[in-house]
Amino acid sequence: MVSGKAEIECPFCHKIEVKAFHRPSYLQAHTSRISAGAKTKYVRIPESYYIQSDCPHCGAKKKDIQDYYEGKYRRKLSHEERLKLWKKRGLPLMIGEK
Ligand SMILES: [Zn+2]
Repeated sequence: MVSGKAEIECPFCHKIEVKAFHRPSYLQAHTSRISAGAKTKYVRIPESYYIQSDCPHCGAKKKDIQDYYEGKYRRKLSHEERLKLWKKRGLPLMIGEK
């Protein structure tokens, strides 16, 4: 099985320019010794990516890309998007107005 450097897609701008270390999924042997010989169990380790660089195209941070590939990323709303959301909910907007 090969593992190694790969270029993966940036989840933010969709350019394949992010350097990552890719480790494919593999089976890991767990050997337990009992009286009559050894018994081996295999556990599947899922594939993983270790992000090595920020995105050179859109400047997305290494950590955000890593979080995205691990399913942890929460998109931060921009100020405009937040205002839109508030308007939708009908909240009075007092920011910067009198
Ligand atoms: Zn990008």
